[in-house]
Amino acid sequence: MVAVVLPTYARADLAFERGEGAYLYATDGRRYLDFAAGVAVNALGHCHPRLVAALTEQAHKLWHCSNLYRVPGQERVATRLIGHSFADTAFFCNSGAEAMECCIKMARRYHHADGHPERNRVICATGGFHGRTLATLAAGGQKKHLDGFAPVVEGFDHVPFGDVAALRAAIGPNSAAILVEPVQGEGGIVPASPDYLRALRALADEFGLLLIFDEVQTGIGRTGRLFAHELAGITPDIMGIAKGLGGGFPVGACLATETAAKGMTPGTHGSTFGGNPLAMAVAETVLDVVLAPGFLAGVEQTARQLRAALDAVAARFPDKVEAVRGVGLLLGIKPRCPNTELVARLRANGLLTVGAGDNVVRMVPPLIIGQAEIDLAADILSRTLSEVGAPS
Ligand SMILES: *Cc1c(COP(=O)(O)O)cnc(C)c1O
Repeated sequence: MVAVVLPTYARADLAFERGEGAYLYATDGRRYLDFAAGVAVNALGHCHPRLVAALTEQAHKLWHCSNLYRVPGQERVATRLIGHSFADTAFFCNSGAEAMECCIKMARRYHHADGHPERNRVICATGGFHGRTLATLAAGGQKKHLDGFAPVVEGFDHVPFGDVAALRAAIGPNSAAILVEPVQGEGGIVPASPDYLRALRALADEFGLLLIFDEVQTGIGRTGRLFAHELAGITPDIMGIAKGLGGGFPVGACLATETAAKGMTPGTHGSTFGGNPLAMAVAETVLDVVLAPGFLAGVEQTARQLRAALDAVAARFPDKVEAVRGVGLLLGIKPRCPNTELVARLRANGLLTVGAGDNVVRMVPPLIIGQAEIDLAADILSRTLSEVGAPS
């Protein structure tokens, strides 16, 4: 029988009815601690009262009006993002892949406007993930994602993540930009070293390339900074964000310097739904909360506590856990059993996590968790690890 919902996901047989803070309640009434957070989307947890208020208030006023007109919410959210980043301008869309598409188009268009249309290739890192549209799939370059979807969109070169010499060697007369995630998320929670990110900035400057960061997963406080690249003390020219920005409402953005955006004149890009008043009302409130004094310092503190708790569990099960890694509240546990098995067992024990590449189990909890949630997660993790059969 054909699935009424296209079966592109290997879904767990589990559905949720409501959420509150860091907890989800399934249709059978069971409670789950949600360290998946809709894959790093529910940054403020479920049904945060201020987000509910912002969305319902806007719902009574105006839902959609088209980008043929000014959207004051976009101007407010853009101003907030610009005021707290390297950027001078923002384009709003509905997802991470769309944000990255805009980044890629902008880089090509910049060199076109500069009189160098031949400079249209983007150098990307292996193990990267930038979305599921045809261009972002090509940028990610992962065989398993591209399989059967040929022809692959042209214009992307790949070098090993973290290898400065390989990146320098890949730069040629057709290079337009460098694109990486400051922490590879889907690839398995692999943080770039600050030195690597600084070297990319220097290479971009030396060769006149644009530096693009994909902060779709790392942005909006996930690492304890508003944006992960702040930890390296450098800035990109263009950046895509999405996941945490809407706290569960679909919204993405491409941020850029005025120079990088110089080719994006009227008519060069668009989105029917992008930046609609509902999305902007929620995003503005997410930023109000995340940028409130002390919030990000609190995330850093929470992240240290969670990391210490996970390290302690891992130390008790050296035969079950190979590594714990990550930055802030973007953490990965690499078990010795298949990650799918650990994710399923954790779920059965009431803790939601997400698989990632390199056999990693991702923990990306809401940024608002406290000691109670850390203790509960550590407790479920150690109970679950003791159930996992030792490798033969
Ligand atoms: C999730 C993700 C994307 C794609 O976002 P969608 O909203 O699924 O299109 C792109 N880049 C990174 C780093 C991501 O984690």
